[in-house]
Order: sequence, then structure tokens, then C-alpha cells
Amino acid sequence: MSATDQPSHPRENTVVDQTPTQLLIDGTWRPAARGGTFPVEDPSTTRTLCSVSDATAEDAVEALAAADRAQNAWAAHPPRERGEILRRAFETITDRHEDLALLMTLEMGKPLAESRAEITYAAEFFRWFAEEAVRIGGDYSVSPSGKGRMLVLRQPVGPSLMITPWNFPMAMGTRKIGPAVAAGCTMVVKPAHQTPLTMLALGHILTESGLPDGVLNIIPARHAGEVTPPILNDERIRKLTFTGSTPVGRRLIEQAAPRVLNVSMELGGNAPFLVFDDADVDAAVDGAMLAKMRNIGEACTAANRFYVHRSVAEEFTTKLTERMRALRTGRGVDDSVEVGPLIDAGQLDKVVELVDDAVARGARVVTGGQRGDGPGHYYTPTVLADVPTEARLLREEIFGPVAPIVTFTEEHQALQAANDTEFGLVSYVYTRDMQRALRVSEALQAGMVGLNQGVVSNAAAPFGGVKQSGIGREGGTVGIDEYLETKYVAVGGL
Ligand code: NAP
Repeated sequence: MSATDQPSHPRENTVVDQTPTQLLIDGTWRPAARGGTFPVEDPSTTRTLCSVSDATAEDAVEALAAADRAQNAWAAHPPRERGEILRRAFETITDRHEDLALLMTLEMGKPLAESRAEITYAAEFFRWFAEEAVRIGGDYSVSPSGKGRMLVLRQPVGPSLMITPWNFPMAMGTRKIGPAVAAGCTMVVKPAHQTPLTMLALGHILTESGLPDGVLNIIPARHAGEVTPPILNDERIRKLTFTGSTPVGRRLIEQAAPRVLNVSMELGGNAPFLVFDDADVDAAVDGAMLAKMRNIGEACTAANRFYVHRSVAEEFTTKLTERMRALRTGRGVDDSVEVGPLIDAGQLDKVVELVDDAVARGARVVTGGQRGDGPGHYYTPTVLADVPTEARLLREEIFGPVAPIVTFTEEHQALQAANDTEFGLVSYVYTRDMQRALRVSEALQAGMVGLNQGVVSNAAAPFGGVKQSGIGREGGTVGIDEYLETKYVAVGGL
């Protein structure tokens, strides 16, 4: 059967057909200025799902103009009502959970169970920031001299450009849109070209939930580099928030520099996963499966390198290998599937290249190590042992179902190896020794640590990285700060 002849389930067609495929500008769904479109592919079949309007630079500037026109009224909108719009959107996402999960699986490839989990996680940012909208504080105090008063208020930053990746097509959006709506910022969102449908479906839900025209504008585009510079060069933009790779993040920071834009960056990772000799090895294997295989390994938080104490390395490797071998790979729409395809041919080629490089340098393939069957972009779940320090996959994000294992004997060696990277998003530690747990957590150069836990994501916690993994935090009580400026008023005459 050729890729284009793949059968599709009637419900698959329905969820795609009911999703908007045009640009959302100033509350109106409309085609791109020059009428262009681009195809959205199902990575499990390489079949085209539908075509989506391809925004031009002209559309981008119109979207920013709409956001700018809406800004003042939106900032003055009662915080309680801003929160209630988010709350209604949370309820609607929850009601449409199944359709949204199917849509996400179709364009991104992850198994349905993972899409459902992402929808729950994504919706949680709306619930969380619905509650935060009414808790934007300020301060009033007596000046230390006793003369005059100090008034401190928080005001929305203003129109924001949000650029999101394909790996968590909804959650990476709600983690920005939620706090921006709560704070009173308007926005232009540019979703990844591989997964625009989930974002367009989210835009539809937010407009249905009562978000005023112009507050949220969505401009899918095939060539991001053509539509975002006109926005970044425009004096009406006030903020850039980006989730994606570190190289693109660096370029965007440069583009934001001339206007000294407020920037938030959620960038790449290279998470170490440390298993000490006193760890509960079964729990470590459970955690490793989550940290490695969530999202088919295509997560910024994915465990990229396993450092395992020599005394437990054999047991850990054997148990992890059994679990990886037992995983069922296939089209994510099949409920029994646990591993879907990678996002596209380029990502699959990168994983093949990194594994080949490690093997050429002496790594041993314990399981997997090859492309999967079928027209989709499949790679078999892989465990590599005896991985040498020079292997590229210990330094670069793998973004695939590959677990490289390196052994160590001393705590300081494990820490040194874990920190030997330009990235600093998350680290995982398995140990039953409390002193070591705290000592190692403090010494790891990372914005987040999973302590005896393979997943750290939580809408109520501050998510973000240090070093070249980013600037700023999303979620938690600090998440809204990214969309607020502090204003100090010096009050005289008292
Ligand atoms: P990417 O290639 O950097 O793309 C991310 C977004 O940036 C997409 O919307 C992309 O648009 C856009 N983009 C690409 N080049 C651009 C340019 N020159 N100007 C403006 N926008 C541009 O990353 P990805 O492959 O989608 O996502 C994977 C990366 O994201 C990984 O490195 C992962 O670690 C990181 N990530 C980080 C976090 C975090 O919270 N720290 C979370 C998730 C993912 P197109 O789709 O059109 O290319």
C-alpha cells in the first residue's frame, strides 16, 4: 500500500474537517493575503491531512495591528472576567478532550494516551491562570525617610509574539496564552508548521469562550523566518516568548535586541538521568521509561543520557531493555500503541545519524538501533550501552526513543558529567539517601530536578532552564510575571 492510500477512520476525517484552517486575525477567520496554503502531514502515514492558510509578512503585521488595537481595552478588562474566559476555555477543552486528542495524534503522531495527557496538562494552565488573574498584587509602603510613600503596581507588558514548537502543540501554547490572558496582554501566536491544527482548534475554543476580537491572533506559516521579523521590527510589539530549539532561540534573541524586547525563552535540553548505587532500581526503570519515552523521546525534558552506578548498571540495563523491547510501535490512533512515529523525515534522519555515530565510536546496541517499518517516520525503541564520552548523542538533543547508558563509580564523576553541557533544563536523580539527594540536587546545573521522579511538568510549578536552556519561567506563581511590568510611583506630599 502506498503512503497516500492509507485508510483513514471516519472520525479522523471529522475532527480534521471541523478544525479551522485559516488565519485568526481580529476575531475573524480569513485566508492568507496571497491565498497561499501549506499541507499538514500525518507523520504515521506521510498522508496529507489538510491544507492550512500560509501567513505572509503582510498578514503578520495585520495580526500585530489587531493585537495593538485591542491592547488598552483588554488591559482594562476586569481581571475576574479575564479569568472566567480562561475557566470557560478550560471546561470546553475538558469536554472536547477526545476529539482534541485525536486531532493532536493525527498531526503530531504521539499515541492517543499521550495526547490525552497533554490535553489535560494544557487545560490545567488555563485553570491555574484563571485563578492567578485575580491575584496580581501591588505594594504600598512608607518611604524609609518617613516622607512620601512608595506605590508599586503591576501592568501588562503589552502585545506579545508567541512562537511555539510541534512537540507539545497545545501545552506549549496554553503555558503562554494562559498567563498573557490573565495579565491583560494581547498576542500573535505562530505555531509550528507541522502542528498548526491543535493551535487553531484552541483559538476557536478561546473565541467561543468570549475572548474579545484581536486579543488572540494566530498566524500559521510555512516559513517562520519570513513572518516573524516584520513583527519583531515593529514598534508596537512589546514581548517575544519562544519555545523551541536553542539555535533558533539565539537567533530570535538577536532579532529582539534592536528593540530591547522583553524576552522569555524555553529552549533545548540535554537531561542527565543519574542512578546511584543506593537507588530503588525498579523505581528508576519506571522513571526512566517516563523520562525517556514520554512523547516518543521528543520532549525538551527527555532523559538524554543515563549515568548509572557500575554496581547497578547491569540490572538497570537489563530491566530497561526488557521494557523498551516490549513497547508496541505503530499509528498513535490505535489505543494499544505506545510509541508513535517521529515528527518528520528530518527528525528520523537525525536520530539515525546520532545512533550510527555512537556505534561507530564503540557503543553497543542492546536493543533497537534501526528504522521502523512502514511509510511513517518510525524508529525502534533503542538502548545503547558502553557509550563513549565523545559520542555526539551525549552532547546533542536526541529527540527520539534512544537511551544511551554510561557507567560511573564516584558521585563527583556523575555530577561532573551531568553538568558538562551548555544546556541546563532538567536533571533526574534516583537515590534513597536523603543527604545525597539534596547535595546532588543543589549541585546540578539545571532549572528543574526530578528527584526519584521521571516527570516534572506541573502547571503549578515554575518550568524553565538555566544556561542555554532558557530565560524565564512558565507556570507556577511566577508564570504570570513574564507578562507583567512593575511600575513604581513615588508619592510626595505626605
Ligand atoms: P524549532 O525548530 O526551534 O522551532 C520552534 C518554533 O520556532 C516553530 O514554530 C518554528 O517554526 C519556529 N522557527 C523556526 N525557525 C524560526 C525563525 N528563523 N524565526 C522565527 N521562528 C522560527 O524547534 P522544534 O523543532 O519545533 O521544537 C523542538 C525544540 O524545542 C527542542 O530543542 C526542544 O528541546 C525545544 N522545546 C523546549 C521546551 C522548553 O520548555 N524548554 C519545550 C518544548 C520544546 P516552523 O515550524 O515553521 O519551523
